Amino acid sequence: MLICAATGNAGKLKELRRILEAQGHTVKSQRELGITLEPDETGETFAQNALIKARAICEAAGVATIADDSGLCVEALGGAPGVYSARYCGRHGDDEANNDKLLRELRGAPEGKRAAAFESAVCLYLPGGAHILFAGRCPGRILFERKGRNGFGYDPLFAPDHVGDAGGGLLPNAAGRSYAELADAEKDAVSHRGAALRELQKKLPAFLQRVQPGAGVGFERDEKFDGDKLCRGTRESAGEG
Ligand code: IMP
Repeated sequence: MLICAATGNAGKLKELRRILEAQGHTVKSQRELGITLEPDETGETFAQNALIKARAICEAAGVATIADDSGLCVEALGGAPGVYSARYCGRHGDDEANNDKLLRELRGAPEGKRAAAFESAVCLYLPGGAHILFAGRCPGRILFERKGRNGFGYDPLFAPDHVGDAGGGLLPNAAGRSYAELADAEKDAVSHRGAALRELQKKLPAFLQRVQPGAGVGFERDEKFDGDKLCRGTRESAGEG
């Protein structure tokens, strides 16, 4: 199906495009569809922000829209930078400054105190209001210095616990390679975004069968989400609250 990608982040767009196109979809960025809107990410969770972005851009674009809200959660920092990952340093989208700040905050933290996870919430929103939400998570640790040149954001500082292998399986990341040292397929096989989009792929046909675009609000959530906490307004507006 034709899907609008609700993001202005070039790195994220590249990943959404390659994963969704491999699943058989046609992806247009919001920019390609002439949408310059940047919704305020006022949510307190990845899921809330994914829903805010997907809904706003879908209403402007008039086609099925996907939004990913994601970030890095570092145990020793109480889950920070979390939903503030893009603006950790105080400016939006300054990857270098964000990475510098992360290294500063973890200065002196030994190997055993550098556990972290990337988390992603993906929302597919259809004209008319039906939408579906999924979560993905990738555990790993924060390196002591940047490694690798691929990817974007915190990729050079994050070593996932596992990496994808050629046969579609997972291998322990024994060499401690960073996300930025992985080939695209190796990252997608373990990444938070890859995990959420694989769930979407599994559940999409049944969802589309159930909800006709334009037929009012339908709501589906992955069991990993606490719907009461994350999506109360949506469930109430769907008459389920
Ligand atoms: P947002 O979802 O647009 O609010 O921003 C997500 C932020 O989290 C990005 O700007 C990156 O800093 C970070 N992030 C999310 N996913 C990744 C990833 O796959 N690699 C590196 N950084 C990421």
